[in-house]
Amino acid sequence: MRRLVLALTAAVSLVASACGDDGGGARSANEGKLQVVASFYPVAEAAQRVGGQQAAVTNLTRAGTEPHDLELTPVQVDQLEDADIVFYLGRGFQPAVEKVAERRDGLTVELLSALPLEKGAAEAEEHAGEEKGSEADHAESVDPHFWLDPTLMQRAVDRMERAFVEARPASREEFRRNAEAYRAELQALDAEYRSALSGCERKELVVSHAAFHYLANRYGLSQEAIAGLSPEVEPNPRRLAELANLVRQRNATTIFYETLVSPGVAHALARDTGAKTAVLNPIEGLTKEQLERGATYASVMRENLAALKSALSCG
Ligand code: ZN
Repeated sequence: MRRLVLALTAAVSLVASACGDDGGGARSANEGKLQVVASFYPVAEAAQRVGGQQAAVTNLTRAGTEPHDLELTPVQVDQLEDADIVFYLGRGFQPAVEKVAERRDGLTVELLSALPLEKGAAEAEEHAGEEKGSEADHAESVDPHFWLDPTLMQRAVDRMERAFVEARPASREEFRRNAEAYRAELQALDAEYRSALSGCERKELVVSHAAFHYLANRYGLSQEAIAGLSPEVEPNPRRLAELANLVRQRNATTIFYETLVSPGVAHALARDTGAKTAVLNPIEGLTKEQLERGATYASVMRENLAALKSALSCG
């Protein structure tokens, strides 16, 4: 009861401060647009592409930070509650976002539930030697990293298109055209991946956190992850020894690390095995620099493809 009263007081003071902070310029530019909140980068980009001129999209995850277990500021809680549409991932990917998204009244789309994904894909986390006692928490766990598979990304775009049409039926045709254009780009990306990865000497991806399962699955590769589904899940020494053996046995040349998470363990594993390191970006967020030079989901996916071809000796 006490918590509820506190929460209500906080919410009321937020409404006041959010109105005071709202810049007049931003308000007029966004006038008449659907206010859309997306919980992290790839979802925000897709929402903006589908919503086009009709949408002003806010990404809750700051550029250059990683989205797992995102903490919300009071202003963001307010944005989530007031948005015309919210796109987010549930199933424990961002519990703080989930909590607000589930209690709000407006149009709210939990994308993982809308996609054809396998349930219980938490083996990676077990491999990484997660402490006992958390199995119950992960009973419903689903690997969230669907966006690294351009085909699953197209299904997310389908779902977004439906949401936009529901929010503004008069613009149905515009949303259809926008979604078609974006899906066509994703399809082209998938075709490039298929052809580039069809004749590789090796199949094993050694990556820092288990973000590449859907991508590996789609293109006949396999993922070996140092950490679990979340980058914070640290590997234990037994898992590291296993990985070092695997790298030697399969003659893996490259240990992949990522830009938003400390690469220490990946570098250590590379040193121990004589492999090199290279970046494979899980596209959980772009940095400010990447955004400024016009990087997009597809451009980073193509950088990833180049890194994969070289590491796996393809074609
Ligand atoms: Zn991740």
